[in-house]
Amino acid sequence: MQYLGPMVESLRLLGTVHAPGVVQYEVTDSDAWDEQVCSYCNGRQMVVVAAQLDGNYKITLEGTRWLRCVSCRRGAVVEGGVVYPAGKPFRTPLGLPAADAAIWEEARSCLGVGATVAAVMLCRKILFHVAVENGLPAKNEKDRAPSYAQAVRHLQDAGLVTKRMLPWVDRIKDVGNDANHEVTPISVDQALDVAAFTEQILVLAYELDALMNDPQRAENGVP
Ligand SMILES: [Zn+2]
Repeated sequence: MQYLGPMVESLRLLGTVHAPGVVQYEVTDSDAWDEQVCSYCNGRQMVVVAAQLDGNYKITLEGTRWLRCVSCRRGAVVEGGVVYPAGKPFRTPLGLPAADAAIWEEARSCLGVGATVAAVMLCRKILFHVAVENGLPAKNEKDRAPSYAQAVRHLQDAGLVTKRMLPWVDRIKDVGNDANHEVTPISVDQALDVAAFTEQILVLAYELDALMNDPQRAENGVP
């Protein structure tokens, strides 16, 4: 049996949870466990702290279940078969500056709930920032912010876009490139393309340096 002590010691439960007549289940019951991906730590094991019955003393997967992640102990709710907060695709590379990390997390959250336009806007913001960090002037010759195409070209010139990523550039360079007065829908696939590209740029711009500068890794000879 999995040891649950710290999981329940740190909870305060509603009095009626222990009232006579309330259906209880035990940690040994399969109902007490749920395999869901934790949106915070990507853990896959959740404890079902409470669950809605189907009217016949059986837990219904269509109802509400209140979960707690075994790894990070944060909470989640399953409602009508959908988990909140939603899982976030991709990962956060090491070594990101705080501002980039915050925007990338927000982009991942947007992708998790299907907010594709917002996700792409945030990814483009990150790509602009990385380009400027890598020498792209924040203002062009017309005293305007550089265009997205200029930013991507600069990432290429700075060597952050590797040869193998070039076909990707073609796929993503026009996604969300509409003028401010236009509204163009962005498909999930397009948003995932832009995000995959952005993640790769973040790895090349920050994570490799962070790994190289990690003294422990250097000591162990881990690249
Ligand atoms: Zn977790």
